[in-house]
Amino acid sequence: MTLTKNQMDILKKYECATLCDFLSVYPLRYDIYELSDETHLVDGQSVILEGYITSSLKSVHYAKNKSVTHFTFDAMKSYRVSIFNRHYLKAPQDPLRKVTLIGKYKHPNQVIASTLYYQPLVELGRIHPIYPLKDKTPLRSIKSMIAKALSVCQNYNHDPLPIDVIQSYQLMNQAEAMKNIHQPESLQELMKAILRFKVSEFLEYHIQIQNNRLRVVHSKQQRHLSSDSITPIIQSLPYTLTLDQQDALHTLFHDSNQPVTASALLQGDVGSGKTVVALCLAYAYIHAGFSVALMVPTEVLAYQHFETAVKTLNGLKDNIFILTSSTKPSERKIMLEYIKSQPSLVIGTHALFSDDVHYNRLGLVIIDEQHRFGVAQRMKLIQKGMDVDVLSMSATPIPRTLASVLFADMNVVTLQNKPLNRGSVQTHVIEGNSFTTVLDDILETIQRKEQVYVITSLIEDDGESRSAMSVYANLKKAFGKQFEIGLLHGKMKNEEKNKVLNAFTSNKIAMLVSTSVVEVGVDVPNATRMIIYDAHRFGLSSLHQLRGRIGRSEKSSICYLINPSQDPLSFQRLQVLVDSHDGFEIASQDLKLRGPGDLIGLKQSGLPSFQFANIISDYDLLIKTKQTALELLQSQSKQHQEYITQVIEQSLKGID
Ligand code: ADP
Ligand code: MG
Repeated sequence: MTLTKNQMDILKKYECATLCDFLSVYPLRYDIYELSDETHLVDGQSVILEGYITSSLKSVHYAKNKSVTHFTFDAMKSYRVSIFNRHYLKAPQDPLRKVTLIGKYKHPNQVIASTLYYQPLVELGRIHPIYPLKDKTPLRSIKSMIAKALSVCQNYNHDPLPIDVIQSYQLMNQAEAMKNIHQPESLQELMKAILRFKVSEFLEYHIQIQNNRLRVVHSKQQRHLSSDSITPIIQSLPYTLTLDQQDALHTLFHDSNQPVTASALLQGDVGSGKTVVALCLAYAYIHAGFSVALMVPTEVLAYQHFETAVKTLNGLKDNIFILTSSTKPSERKIMLEYIKSQPSLVIGTHALFSDDVHYNRLGLVIIDEQHRFGVAQRMKLIQKGMDVDVLSMSATPIPRTLASVLFADMNVVTLQNKPLNRGSVQTHVIEGNSFTTVLDDILETIQRKEQVYVITSLIEDDGESRSAMSVYANLKKAFGKQFEIGLLHGKMKNEEKNKVLNAFTSNKIAMLVSTSVVEVGVDVPNATRMIIYDAHRFGLSSLHQLRGRIGRSEKSSICYLINPSQDPLSFQRLQVLVDSHDGFEIASQDLKLRGPGDLIGLKQSGLPSFQFANIISDYDLLIKTKQTALELLQSQSKQHQEYITQVIEQSLKGID
């Protein structure tokens, strides 16, 4: 099979090794083409219209590579159409043949078109798979690659799913499902294909979870943790632990002292105080002569936990280290010697499982924001010790019944209630593109010596959304003389990032303009306002996590969501945040408001995410497949065992 250079480039962009791998680039969603009812059009709604182009096409170039083309379009009514960056469009060859126009309706008679087909709707087909577009790869190139792959790749003809599973769930076979997921013939066939993918996803998930349980070590080195050891730590805290925190510690100590390796999930909404629980437990391990590795997803968070640990666990200072990919080689060498020779608390990013890192009796691995790490990464760290206990932490508290299915391999411990010293957090949606309407509130906040986050979705301009760089430059120009403004984003060097974050933590900076690098974990209780530009571009769970950066003290806080989008769905989504402060509720709504396969932003939710299956709306299937998975695991049949082996091998890919 020969591929053009262009097609090879596309494979690379989608991180596929072969053309056949490309079949697992699935549609994000499916557009169903149906004619809009022209008698009931609402301003801003998406429309599909069939009609005739009844004027010449006039293009205007207004910037480099930017143009807008205008024409008149007659369906039942007559519309003035604008379409961007399509200066090459021509009038249809046959003016009597209907064309199809897709776009947004603007009252009273305008359409901002996104697509123009020189065909009537019937010829286009009804169901259109929409793929994730990377680096501006055109949709039609993706579709033609998929068509090619479907015609030449035969390797999916061998169906991995056991035949009795296929029968009892009445599933399509693999080849049929693959064809229909990419080129659905009808809505009914598509739904059947999706069902097949959902069942596979759930079965694989359950099998992996059950397999984790089998890896448990039943006679580990005794930990002998003593709760007395942490009394001085607890007494020196500037607050008293909540009852939930105390209960959690009690449970975690108990589990750790069992002869079986402990595996717990500490869950609690943003700001519920998980860090201090983890640090107390870590202290007890080190006191008992074991090392602890605390892994976090970002360097910013690693530094912050390091500072907190040094402050909180006084007396242990010399045994606390921070290890990231930007640790200087000379420091790293000395540090690794220490870590090897004495029980230590090592805080860091994925650098914690580099080959040259050896721990002194590693007893506990703590994984903060656990959903940010893949199975392989978690396993690599855990395998640094012989019989390691694991504490995972997640910011989305899942109800008990659901948690017992999703996290059947862990003991789920929940911090239900937040510390009592918390002021209210209000959330407002601001329509438009700026925060001038609430400027007074922001300036007063800064006068009170409280601090403000300004969040953007981008680092640099892309012409559509506001970027951290340009917002920073504008604010600096307007207010730079009145108060200090800082800038934080992922492309900055770590030293710079830490400098900025430290300055913000110590209130030397009043306003911090940042991308979502502050999303996870950052803890500056004196910050009480957050402005989020282009809020519609974030997932709801991400917004909830971002908002969790404020409301961390007794002062009341406000989060402003700036929404420039006219789409009613954007407003509806953001309203969920105004109404709810419950991370699980928000994640569930996010799941419900998204289509199948639409994963953007969901990684942040802490709920296990699947391409097709949805743990909320497919709950019954989730339960049913668990039962099937357990049966398969106990079965002696060769076909069942082969399937299980294949699933487990697949999940362990990337682990040595
Ligand atoms: P998260 O659960 O989101 O990781 P953190 O551990 O960052 O939350 O804690 C949020 C804030 O609450 C921190 O500033 C921490 O010092 C504070 N905190 C933790 N426990 C208590 C408590 N019992 N009383 C008051 N403040 C607390
Ligand atoms: Mg945290």
